[in-house]
Amino acid sequence: MNLIKSALSALVLGSVALSGAALAQGKPTVGIAMPTKASARWIDDGNNIVKVLKERGYNTDLQYAEDDIPNQLSQVENMVTKGAKVLVIAAIDGTTLSNVLKQAKDRGIVVIAYDRLIRDTPNVDYYATFDNFQVGVLQAQSIEEGLKLKEGKGPFNIELFGGSPDDNNAYFFYNGAMSVLQPYLDSGKLVVASKQLGMDKVSTLRWDGATAQARMDNLLSAFYTTKRVDAVLSPYDGLSIGILSSLKGVGYGSGNMPMPIVSGQDAEVPSIKSMLRGEQYSTIFKDTRDLARVTADMVDAALSGKTVTVNDTTTYKNGVKVVPAFLLKPVIVDRTNWEKILIDGGYYKKGQIN
Ligand code: BGC
Repeated sequence: MNLIKSALSALVLGSVALSGAALAQGKPTVGIAMPTKASARWIDDGNNIVKVLKERGYNTDLQYAEDDIPNQLSQVENMVTKGAKVLVIAAIDGTTLSNVLKQAKDRGIVVIAYDRLIRDTPNVDYYATFDNFQVGVLQAQSIEEGLKLKEGKGPFNIELFGGSPDDNNAYFFYNGAMSVLQPYLDSGKLVVASKQLGMDKVSTLRWDGATAQARMDNLLSAFYTTKRVDAVLSPYDGLSIGILSSLKGVGYGSGNMPMPIVSGQDAEVPSIKSMLRGEQYSTIFKDTRDLARVTADMVDAALSGKTVTVNDTTTYKNGVKVVPAFLLKPVIVDRTNWEKILIDGGYYKKGQIN
């Protein structure tokens, strides 16, 4: 009797083990290509997306390319060769992946552009991101508020910084910001003393903080020896930190030289700390947990042949087609609401900030 029992249970166990193995083998792999670990935001993105996909039973292959374009290209090529069924890509340069994405298409791989649009190829299926134009609007609105422009204050001097020219988002941020700032430039309430306007003049290759700091140094010594700069449009916290160092270097933020209003993006810890010291004025919070969830929903739907949920089918023209997108809402964060949004919302622990 006992013998029969144990033989039976061995059989049952065996079949459980078998179906487990078969399941593990059958689980598709999602290749995830992230740009760099130099910025905390992308580390959060990678962690969050791996977490959600694993919870849903997928295998994941997460790679960071340290902002090196050939490196990212070979990482994606590897994912294709190794049999990924979906590619989730936050491109370093949105225009350099066309060949590998053609190979991906030929193998029936689903391609999702993550946060940054992939350009100049028909072989990108979906785009999961935030409302990038609105990011720029919010950045400029915080400058508008900080300078009390709506109340008629001014004229003020402002300098403008843009993101990396190979990142489609950078143009959306800049254009969104200019949609708010342009009327004040036209009326003379805002003045760009350097006259450096337009992405061709104000962009910052690879979103590099040291490049922004060097440009701010040059602006200060060329245009602001006898007048003050009152605001700086910065599209990303890593640039803001460089810009603030440059400003502090010539005495802003001490004595009778108040810090200009400086914007940012990504709600990175050093920038929250800077805000609490009264330096950076604001940042934009983009909840990467939500972006991970939306992306995983796209993966699920695409692999099971269901309709992928998107909420924008007009905005993101990639040079070949309009990429159907899901846009999440960015949130402005400053000294008045950081705790409610970032701590109460569970994104950071208080100890990380204090
Ligand atoms: C992202 C921003 C980020 C920037 C620099 C952009 O593509 O949308 O959130 O600040 O890259 O990493």
